[in-house]
Amino acid sequence: MSEVTLQQIVKIFPGGAKALDQINLQVKDRELLVILGPSGCGKSTLLRVVAGLESTTHGSVFIDKEDVTEKEPGYRDIAMVFQNYALYPHMTVYKNIAYGLKNRKISKNDIDQRVKEVAGTLQIQDYLHRKPNQLSGGQRQRVAMGRAIARSPKVFLFDEPLSNLDAKLRVQLRLEISKLQAELGVTSLYVTHDQVEAMTLGHRLVLMNAGKIEQIDEPLKIYETPKTLFVAGFIGSPPMNLLPGEMNENGELTLGSMIKIDVKNYLVGSKKITLGLRPEHIFTDDSASTLGQFVVENLERQGADSYLYGKLEGYSNLLMIRVKGDIAYSIGSVLSVSYEKEKMHLFDSETGIRIDSK
Ligand code: ATP
Repeated sequence: MSEVTLQQIVKIFPGGAKALDQINLQVKDRELLVILGPSGCGKSTLLRVVAGLESTTHGSVFIDKEDVTEKEPGYRDIAMVFQNYALYPHMTVYKNIAYGLKNRKISKNDIDQRVKEVAGTLQIQDYLHRKPNQLSGGQRQRVAMGRAIARSPKVFLFDEPLSNLDAKLRVQLRLEISKLQAELGVTSLYVTHDQVEAMTLGHRLVLMNAGKIEQIDEPLKIYETPKTLFVAGFIGSPPMNLLPGEMNENGELTLGSMIKIDVKNYLVGSKKITLGLRPEHIFTDDSASTLGQFVVENLERQGADSYLYGKLEGYSNLLMIRVKGDIAYSIGSVLSVSYEKEKMHLFDSETGIRIDSK
């Protein structure tokens, strides 16, 4: 049983940068919790606070029920995997993995058995005699994970472990981390700025913005019900279309001079509203609710899918639509487009807060 609890964590660096602002968070036993957010939002600082590598200005860190806020990193029973592997360059793979076990009064035989077991799990048994500089990036990261696993810690902390690897290897190791974490059942915190990684790995996802938590939930729930404009714009690749409009005297949302959206089923309380539509919820035919005439200004063919960029008649904001890869449209095509009404999102443009349906 290992839970990590953060209570009202504030971190202000000397010089005044507020990296963490009232963070309350609980990582459940055996959970893989992903922390996602733009550069500088405080992800790494949060992880380093849990590790004990960074002190807190205010607030407490608990591992299980124990307050570890003042404890040195070596006494927290955590293992960390970094982006840059952080292996000892002068030691062999074997010694790198064995290193964390040496100070634990474990017999040489038991260490040997444990290193070989871990190397087998990670398929690095053939490289045990090599030094880190004789390994590929993917192999080095496996060694770093091996070193973390060998100690059977209470908590794993991953800080962008895959970002130095090429795209194909990233996908492969992502699947391996997911499988390994489930098998070992070790409570894990995983920092990334890659939303595909976040969506696919996380049991739950924390989206951070400027030192604060914007939303915590299961990845698909965040995708389907973003609570704020920031979350709506951040989660989804390609991103959600965010189309600012205004309410008229008939209680309709108007986009530009021609488009009127019926929002009477929503608890709209202000005048400036942003309509959110994901590119896959807009269609280039009349099969759903009419949006208007759309002129294709640009087109990206990505294979299975193509993306159309263009404008709706009477509205100056750019709109992106996902269509099938082999579609015959070209720049200048004029299409009637419709949208899936049940999938639309509304936000108060000024507060950025989601507007719920009645
Ligand atoms: P990235 O994805 O770019 O790594 P991040 O979300 O991990 O970013 P942090 O590294 O946690 O962000 O930084 C959060 C904020 O704290 C930033 O504004 C950063 O400039 C500031 N910061 C981080 N470390 C220090 C430090 N040692 N001294 C002063 N300010 C710092």
